[in-house]
Amino acid sequence: MSSKTTILTGLRVNNDLHIGNYLGALLPMIDLAKEHADDYQINLFVPDLHSFTTPIDHSRLQDAIFDTVSNYIALGLPIDHENVHVYRQSFIPAHSELALILSNFTGFGEMFRMTQFKEKGRSIVAQHQNTNIEPSDTHEVEDQSDTTIRKTEENGSVGLFNYPILMAADILLYNARYVPVGDDQTQHLEFTRDIAERINNKFEQELFVLPESVKHQHEFFGKDQGLRVRDLADPTKKMSKSDDTGKGVIFLSDNPEVARKKIMSATTDSYEDVQYDFDKRPGVSNLLDLYTLFGGSQHEFLGQVQYGPLKSAVADKIAAFLGEHQQMRSTVKQATVESHLQHSEQLMNQIANRHLYDVQRAIGLRR
Ligand code: ATP
Ligand code: MG
Repeated sequence: MSSKTTILTGLRVNNDLHIGNYLGALLPMIDLAKEHADDYQINLFVPDLHSFTTPIDHSRLQDAIFDTVSNYIALGLPIDHENVHVYRQSFIPAHSELALILSNFTGFGEMFRMTQFKEKGRSIVAQHQNTNIEPSDTHEVEDQSDTTIRKTEENGSVGLFNYPILMAADILLYNARYVPVGDDQTQHLEFTRDIAERINNKFEQELFVLPESVKHQHEFFGKDQGLRVRDLADPTKKMSKSDDTGKGVIFLSDNPEVARKKIMSATTDSYEDVQYDFDKRPGVSNLLDLYTLFGGSQHEFLGQVQYGPLKSAVADKIAAFLGEHQQMRSTVKQATVESHLQHSEQLMNQIANRHLYDVQRAIGLRR
């Protein structure tokens, strides 16, 4: 096992990446890799086995993997650095085996408490019924859990239900200490710590390094960690790749002018002026946050009576970012991506198999 502290994150390839993925998960990782790749092992993996928890177009999966990794390179990930690893989960079979092992130490009730499968289940249910989720419903996810769970049982898969177990395997296999994820993954990270600790205690050895608590993760990554970029059309929910309309989602592949239109028609509120208040005024607060995250200073807009100038300013920043990014993205070659993936996968298989063997031995599968 590498003696360096491992930092790991993965982004599903079920759709194009959006600015929430970029700001919440990718940017902290890329910034860190740019500055500190000498000091850490940095794993940015493609969780391809997580692709099927919500319905996808299977014929597009290979292109989506290539697109995602190309985005990493275009966004400045120092992929040639010897401590930076980009690999596909399904090319390292130890992920699946460890997940199967972990599932036997996971309580059914424990998985049941995870809120994300309920939320995802809801959107699958909504897709099936061809209806949109009413904004106010988002708050009722937990309250309505019985109905939601019943509907999720009908329309969602076991893979969706127990994907936090595979996610825990993804993290624990490499003894990752820091896992930059958006706020929506906090509960899964806590679960990862719980299961690691439980197994370490049961077998009386440090089989797994516990990832740091969410609080320490925040400290390590600074303010971008725990970020939740909101959907522009419905700011009560987070921006999501699997959103079926895409109206409130800015994809990294969006034509800058299309992105501009989405921002200009963002839902705000009917108050009189621009103020920051995430609970009462999620739409305008989201725009203010985006403006800051793309390098602006929101103070210029606080107190203004019109929302138009703020929207235009955010649209300018994001359109410029997309234009530049897409230009870089178009220079990345498929052969470059493929050779990087294969190189990392060879190395990661060695690390993962060695660790898996220790686990197999501890639980009695090997002598
Ligand atoms: P899906 O709807 O298919 O789950 P997603 O948009 O939630 O897609 P994921 O692949 O599940 O994206 O998540 C990749 C990473 O991006 C995770 O670390 C997640 O926490 C982060 N992330 C996702 N959405 C946001 C968001 N709106 N704001 C900040 N971070 C986000
Ligand atoms: Mg998600």
